[in-house]
Amino acid sequence: MTDTSADLVILGGGSGGYACAFRAAELGLSVIMIEKDKLGGTCLHRGCIPTKALLHAAEVADNAREGEQFGIKSALEGIDMGGVNSYKDGIVSRLHKGLQGLAKAHNVTLVEGAGTLVGNRTVEVNGDRYTGKNVLLATGSYSKTLPGLELGGRVIASEQALNLDYVPESVVVLGGGVIGVEFASVWRSFGSEVTIVEALPRLVPNEDEYASKQLERAFRRRGIKFKTGVKFTEAKQGETGVSVSLESGDQLEADLLLVAVGRGPNSAGHGYEEAGVTMERGFVRTDERMRTSVDGVYAVGDLVPGLQLAHRGFQQGIFIAEEIAGLNPKPVDDAGIPRVTYCKPEVASVGLTEAEAKERYGAVHTFTYDLAGNGKSQILKTAGGVKLVKAGAEGEEGPVVGVTMVGERVGELVGEAQLIYNWEAFPEDVAPLVHAHPTQTEALGEAHLALAGKPLHVHG
Ligand SMILES: Cc1cc2nc3c(=O)[nH]c(=O)nc-3n(C[C@H](O)[C@H](O)[C@H](O)COP(=O)(O)OP(=O)(O)OC[C@H]3O[C@@H](n4cnc5c(N)ncnc54)[C@H](O)[C@@H]3O)c2cc1C
Repeated sequence: MTDTSADLVILGGGSGGYACAFRAAELGLSVIMIEKDKLGGTCLHRGCIPTKALLHAAEVADNAREGEQFGIKSALEGIDMGGVNSYKDGIVSRLHKGLQGLAKAHNVTLVEGAGTLVGNRTVEVNGDRYTGKNVLLATGSYSKTLPGLELGGRVIASEQALNLDYVPESVVVLGGGVIGVEFASVWRSFGSEVTIVEALPRLVPNEDEYASKQLERAFRRRGIKFKTGVKFTEAKQGETGVSVSLESGDQLEADLLLVAVGRGPNSAGHGYEEAGVTMERGFVRTDERMRTSVDGVYAVGDLVPGLQLAHRGFQQGIFIAEEIAGLNPKPVDDAGIPRVTYCKPEVASVGLTEAEAKERYGAVHTFTYDLAGNGKSQILKTAGGVKLVKAGAEGEEGPVVGVTMVGERVGELVGEAQLIYNWEAFPEDVAPLVHAHPTQTEALGEAHLALAGKPLHVHG
């Protein structure tokens, strides 16, 4: 048994873990990072990157199929999943190589194997012990299922959905959240019949109701079926398909059932509770400075309650490195983290929904700018809009506390939206800032002009 020590020992090399490792190394700390699978974690290998590659392939398929409406003679001959998968895997593998190079360049010591926290800021891996002045728990999350619904065969989670070597004729997607609607969107573009089942009353239920309505309208137009406000009861697999029963009495038949009902914390069996770390429904509880209940032990990313997003993990990881280095950084505010759902059309938001803002501020003033008035969106033939929520009643001054956008490519607008939210800008601050014409960013500009009382391209 060897016993090695460092300033920081990190358990898990995903978004949260490696961001912390790199920043800590930049600040002169010695870092050991333990990873049982591949550096990069869920986001790089089973999450953000491969799904977005599939979504891009789906967009290319739609473009080929729909060329006619732009006067381009094209047709979709078919989907070659072998080709799609090698495109996707090529991107993942290039980024993985790049990340390994960065770990080396930062002098981060990588240890392969599954680690267990054994107390005293020590992690054990294959009989060897690594002790840190500080320890970071960064073991991420796993795909959940429902009681009585076992994954396997035709009942799959996102991990299997990412690696199918064929396009299913029909799919039932259980869960209308981010992961569910993204896969529904991909498969529909590839030609599958898709039905989404969501227990809550609307798709993307964590977003502003406006986004749900817009997305549902667009999905209806695309022929993506969905049943909201209805619970799943049972799934039975046969030779040729899976039969899904709902509480409403409906029975859905499909080739596959994708279970996309959320992700649970990957915390079991790693020694956390035994080492005295306070847990909450399986998540590791931290204070706003990402400290667990054990002195010198921090936690990051999907393991910690809140938004499960890679860039939240990055930012929290950077925060922890700077905290340990004594830089006294500003805590990460979950509401200021931009959220993008990359289906067609995209949903992008930051800050509060209208309902949340009303709860916090009482009176709010909202304005919705329809993309029908935005030249670039018309060129792209995308519908949707930008909804702003301002704290304070109409006529009162107040900051923009929520931005929700729906439409193709609006994910790219969230960069500006998050600056507006995080800098607590008032509509009057944004109104004089010039947006290039014709771009979709103008929709954000127009919405702020209108909220500041000087609408330009606004009807009625
Ligand atoms: C299908 C899908 C699509 C997604 N799309 C997006 C997106 O577009 N944008 C976005 O921001 N987020 C997206 N996410 C979420 C994103 O992937 C996660 O929020 C992010 O990966 C969380 O980072 P993390 O570091 O907390 O955990 P992870 O990335 O899960 O990393 C944890 C690491 O710890 C390792 N590990 C676990 N236990 C041990 C142990 N005992 N010893 C050693 N190593 C261990 C694991 O192997 C893993 O590599 C998506 C997720 C999924 C599933």
